[in-house]
Amino acid sequence: MFSETSCIPESFCYNNICMLEVHIIINLIYTENDGDVMFRRFMYGRYGTDKLNLAMVVLVVALSLLNSLLFAIFESSVLYSLLSSVYGVLLFFSIYRMLSRNIAARRAENQKWLNFCKRLRDRDNRYFRCPHCRQRVRVPRHKGKISIRCPKCGEKFIRKT
Ligand SMILES: [Zn+2]
Repeated sequence: MFSETSCIPESFCYNNICMLEVHIIINLIYTENDGDVMFRRFMYGRYGTDKLNLAMVVLVVALSLLNSLLFAIFESSVLYSLLSSVYGVLLFFSIYRMLSRNIAARRAENQKWLNFCKRLRDRDNRYFRCPHCRQRVRVPRHKGKISIRCPKCGEKFIRKT
């Protein structure tokens, strides 16, 4: 007996695969084929691609694999649809970013992402936000509980390093 929940919702799957293809095609043509005049004209003044887009697509592929795995275990089409909507949005956003003409905004997003990666890799320091003014404060790790004074507004707060 096949119940309705035991088949993968095809439309979600299909839409996301299409979007992934669009993403990869734009990416490939943009980065490798600079001889294509039509495409260059189309991309003129548009942002193109960057490390944030690459990270989003890697995440999309990982999530879609996870989604297939979860579907094989739980056979829940509701869960499947929910998760695939999540990475569908990510894909849509990555394509939107590539075609965007607001280059300053896209660069700022990418810079935020690069800074985030840098903080993740930083083994010597920890980063906190000032509870008062949201200023990011960097302090050395492994100092136990310390009192931190915000350099911007002077607020003092206690954090574990
Ligand atoms: Zn502050």
